Amino acid sequence: MTENGPAALQVEDVHKSFGAHEVLKGISLRAHKGDVISLIGSSGSGKSTFLRCINLLEIPDRGRIVVNGEEIAMKTGRDGRARPADRRQVERIRSGVAMVFQSFNLWAHMTVLGNVIEAPVHVFGMKRKEAVERAEALLAKVGLYDKRDAYPAFLSGGQQQRAAIARALCVNPTVMLFDEPTSALDPELVGEVLKVIRDLAEEGRTMLLVTHEMKFARDVSSHVMFLHDGRVEEEGPPEQVFGTPSSARCREFTASLR
Ligand code: ADP
Ligand code: MG
Repeated sequence: MTENGPAALQVEDVHKSFGAHEVLKGISLRAHKGDVISLIGSSGSGKSTFLRCINLLEIPDRGRIVVNGEEIAMKTGRDGRARPADRRQVERIRSGVAMVFQSFNLWAHMTVLGNVIEAPVHVFGMKRKEAVERAEALLAKVGLYDKRDAYPAFLSGGQQQRAAIARALCVNPTVMLFDEPTSALDPELVGEVLKVIRDLAEEGRTMLLVTHEMKFARDVSSHVMFLHDGRVEEEGPPEQVFGTPSSARCREFTASLR
């Protein structure tokens, strides 16, 4: 990771429990512009919850989240739980942190273009004409310009995921969060989505990527974090985490997926 300049994303000591189950036990990370940080670990280790806390789909119980130098202000409610102090700030920060889900989550009743311009126009007040121009350029970039008027049901899984990536890019986020973006795809469609993600990495997009594609993570990441039971058990450059990890658990995990 580059150590100079302000971080695009800084997360400090994030904790999250569901009832009595403490799922995140203090996770921190710092991503500078252009960093690609991969999060790996077994199912249930807390990877999705961590990403969801960063874009406030889940509210962390404790910890700090700073996007582009702006810290999310939290207050404690009467029930003793933390919550964001300012709804408008949450919207602003969400626009800086776009998420791509395993299950695409496109709106079925909207065309591809409609999906991509929805948030820019209706949440962030971009002029429709400008949003359409941006969206068409992004759809061209992910190889879907000719599908802009199609409905999601008529697209393959790989095409749907590429549309979801264009949608996430359309708000020009500071950080892109990918939660197992290829796990729901048939094997022959994985490559086309990884290619789009690789192009974004090469362009210098700042990204957090949860993935089971170990070879891909090794290739594109500037930093890799291995989560186990809500904690970071091993982290470092890909050569270290995949090559010479000090944690036996991390070694077993990466070996099992090679
Ligand atoms: P991963 O993405 O690494 O597989 P998750 O973050 O999805 O892990 O889940 C971590 C743990 O938190 C799991 O035990 C899961 O059952 C639990 N969990 C996640 N979301 C919720 C929720 N909304 N309510 C209760 N438990 C949850
Ligand atoms: Mg998950």
